[in-house]
Amino acid sequence: MKELDIDMAWFKRELKGIITTTEEKKEAPDGIWNKCPNCKKPLHYSEQVENQYVCHYCGYHLRIGSKEYFAVLFDNNEFTELFTDLTSGDPLHFEDTKKYTDRLKETQTKTGLKDAIRAGAGKIDGQDLVIACMDFNFIGGSMGSVVGEKIARSIDYCIANKVPFLMISKSGGARMMEAAFSLMQMAKTSAKLALLSQAKIPYISLLTDPTTGGVTASYAMLGDINIAEPGALIGFAGPRVIKETIKKDLPKGFQTAEFVQEHGFLDFIVDRREMKEKLASFIKMMAN
Ligand SMILES: [Zn+2]
Repeated sequence: MKELDIDMAWFKRELKGIITTTEEKKEAPDGIWNKCPNCKKPLHYSEQVENQYVCHYCGYHLRIGSKEYFAVLFDNNEFTELFTDLTSGDPLHFEDTKKYTDRLKETQTKTGLKDAIRAGAGKIDGQDLVIACMDFNFIGGSMGSVVGEKIARSIDYCIANKVPFLMISKSGGARMMEAAFSLMQMAKTSAKLALLSQAKIPYISLLTDPTTGGVTASYAMLGDINIAEPGALIGFAGPRVIKETIKKDLPKGFQTAEFVQEHGFLDFIVDRREMKEKLASFIKMMAN
């Protein structure tokens, strides 16, 4: 009988352990480990940082945001963030499952971002550079009026200060909730890029996984040099839509960076671990 009590005590103690709240569990910092989505091997957070967020087993390029790209590319992660006060309006009073204004507010709180793009001015290997980088976790990296406006202002800044411009795209396309206001950004950014080109200031476009829709159809493909990360999905419409339209099977690897390069739409595919060095040398080359 006594023995059983002891057993019960242990049993109860274990039970107690099971009801640890989620809050308590989070004592270990978030994201210490996560699995590579491609080879499923565990990746330690510090290893990810060291390897520029590329899986060191299989070379898969993890999806990262502006914070990580700035840290990977800017010297000592030093930069001045530009145009931080821009936020989206709701010109159409759009509502789907929730109001667009509520969706914006929620996403801002969840991500700590104002919209799907950030711009920063800093140095890469000692040379001045402005980087505008999209964030996919902000409503699918969708291109709305803030994205277009920040790109336009970044280009103005580059022209005024004679600084090269790097655009890092990662987007599902135009932002549905801003409808025609989104589509207008394609024309606006394209026109600004023409001015940059007239001013003979280099523009490098870096396409990352995924770059689709109106973004592919405008600024992402207009670089003096167009680069992509390996394995990135790049396309206009999704594969299923195309298949249904042309009523034919699509070739293998369709819409990967490698396929797009083979067909002449990309100049280079660059591993993220060599990205900074390559970009710096392109900029040096174009400055001469
Ligand atoms: Zn892997």
